[in-house]
Amino acid sequence: MIQLYIPLNFLGVLYREIKQSLTDLDRMFALMDREREVADRPNAPALFLPLPPGEGQGEGAPASNVLPVSDWTVRFEHVTFAYDPARVILHDVSFEIPAGKTVAVVGPSGSGKSTLARLLYRFYDVQQGRITIGGHDVRDVQQASVRRAIGIVPQDTVLFNDTVEYNIAYGRPGASRTEVEEAARAARIHDFITSTPGGYQTMVGERGLKLSGGEKQRVAIARTLLKNPPILIFDEATSALDSANERAIQAELRTAARNKTTLLIAHRLSTVVDAHEILVMEAGHVVERGTHEALLARGGRYARMWQLQQRHGGDAVPAA
Ligand code: ATP
Repeated sequence: MIQLYIPLNFLGVLYREIKQSLTDLDRMFALMDREREVADRPNAPALFLPLPPGEGQGEGAPASNVLPVSDWTVRFEHVTFAYDPARVILHDVSFEIPAGKTVAVVGPSGSGKSTLARLLYRFYDVQQGRITIGGHDVRDVQQASVRRAIGIVPQDTVLFNDTVEYNIAYGRPGASRTEVEEAARAARIHDFITSTPGGYQTMVGERGLKLSGGEKQRVAIARTLLKNPPILIFDEATSALDSANERAIQAELRTAARNKTTLLIAHRLSTVVDAHEILVMEAGHVVERGTHEALLARGGRYARMWQLQQRHGGDAVPAA
């Protein structure tokens, strides 16, 4: 009996671990509102993502059925989208994020900002218009390759019930400990990690050490730095952070976004000042667009939001 018990017990542990991992993934997908309805076309090619020199495959000539991408410009062309046909969420939205630049999106809650991010990551397909990466319609290429090319720092990062090292290395499975530490240093979370009793082996997540919103976001930034994707989506947390933490997160964000094609969904206007272009969304329409200076000079919605935030000491406030 005991002989049978041990393997069964082991299987039970294994089952619980697998189930927990699946629960984590389910939660992550639920958080990202993932719908599993978007499918690749048969024989869809992959976007070719060159790896940094010295990392073997990816250098030299691409394998078959891949599309070389020479610049990671993102374009939304006349995009109209509804989750439910009875309610259109985005109306004829067009903008371009030139390779290596940042476009910021601001606007009231529910105006469609995160929907833009979900469409770029291709959780859903657009009903009209198209979204291109490097000139390729995202519907014509392998989803997996689109997702390899994009790093997301979400509002609320879900951590796996595993070590902090695992949680960062998830950005690039197989990364060495040194690489994990480098990413953690760049995301300014290394000192915090080494101050915990278990260091990089500290268990985090629901069953481990609870991290603050800001700490979790830094883990997500470290993960993304390690992944080193050409495209970045940063969904700024709405919850008010203290100003020292906010400045630190902004600095990390700038590090992460350097030379990356970045879609920044912003709640604090102080983070968008340097953006190549700022889109002001309202009820799924782009109602104003331009640089920070041009929008202030225009004296419209953005200028009013800016004045309101200045009065609130930079905290996120609803759009004016
Ligand atoms: P916030 O600033 O609060 O994050 P947002 O501008 O990012 O808001 P979205 O999350 O893009 O807004 O949502 C736009 C609209 O789409 C909202 O009215 C929302 O209720 C609706 N919506 C979002 N996700 C879904 C979904 N999965 N199914 C149906 N409607 C949805």
